[in-house]
Amino acid sequence: MPVLVGAATFGGRHDQGMAFVVDLTERKRAQEKIRESERRYSKLQMELAHVNRVTTMGELSVSIAHEVMQPIAATVNNAQAALHFLNAQPPNLEGAREALGATVKAGNRSADIIGRIRALVKKAPPSKDALEINGAILECIALTRCEIVNNGVSVQTQLAEGLPLIQGDRVQLQQVILNLIVNAIEALSGVDEGARELLIRTGKAEPDAVLVAVQDCGPGLDPANPEHLFEAFHTTKPDGMGMGLSICRAIVESHGGRLWATANEPRGAVFQLTLPSKRDEAVTAGPTGQMPVA
Ligand code: ADP
Repeated sequence: MPVLVGAATFGGRHDQGMAFVVDLTERKRAQEKIRESERRYSKLQMELAHVNRVTTMGELSVSIAHEVMQPIAATVNNAQAALHFLNAQPPNLEGAREALGATVKAGNRSADIIGRIRALVKKAPPSKDALEINGAILECIALTRCEIVNNGVSVQTQLAEGLPLIQGDRVQLQQVILNLIVNAIEALSGVDEGARELLIRTGKAEPDAVLVAVQDCGPGLDPANPEHLFEAFHTTKPDGMGMGLSICRAIVESHGGRLWATANEPRGAVFQLTLPSKRDEAVTAGPTGQMPVA
């Protein structure tokens, strides 16, 4: 039985005092209960993050299938061309060599795409990579390229040069950016075709932080309560889960950053996040301009 034993003398006298024994069983039990529910909470959070990631990937599966099909088709075409060159009389060895080189390249590209997807879906524990944010964003844009094209969205990037590296879990942070991009695409799918513009910006934020902004010209946010969006299960979509933004905020905050939403001018929404930079490191140029999405 856990107990607390205490004793004290009265007013400096040595011949009188008191002693007590407090039974701590209840307190220990309560503490254990709290610890247990904390453990369950963090497990649940991990599960939710996983569900959300898998759902995001579900939404993107069409685009991924397209991404992987293209290099596989290129692999088959090039291999057929190589056979054709070898079967010729006399065999065209130079042509076959070239076609086989292209086959290897296309095969590697399929493997790269699948590797990236596996990393996103895997329930890997959060890691602390040194991360170059512009590169991570460009990968997210590449992953959503098909959605972007199918929804007639035009994507602009303004990625600042010389940004410091940040420290964090690449997969989780890319999940945040993917969510923001997918939300923006969904918001834009409701507006006129010519006006479906999505801008992704990066820059420095004070003090020692990097800023990422995803801004669209969609219908925008409810001005009365923009914080609503970040509540779990808040959704305005018929098939939405309403978990995306609350998980995004949890991920960003677990990296020591902030995620918030404001109105875009003249219309639409801007989601901005800051992430503390890893000290004393900077990288060079990030590309700027119109993304070749078609
Ligand atoms: P879900 O996408 O499943 O609804 P989220 O948590 O990602 O869940 O988003 C919650 C809600 O926030 C959405 O249902 C939508 O109403 C709103 N929202 C999110 N992104 C945007 C945006 N770019 N423009 C307008 N509303 C948005």
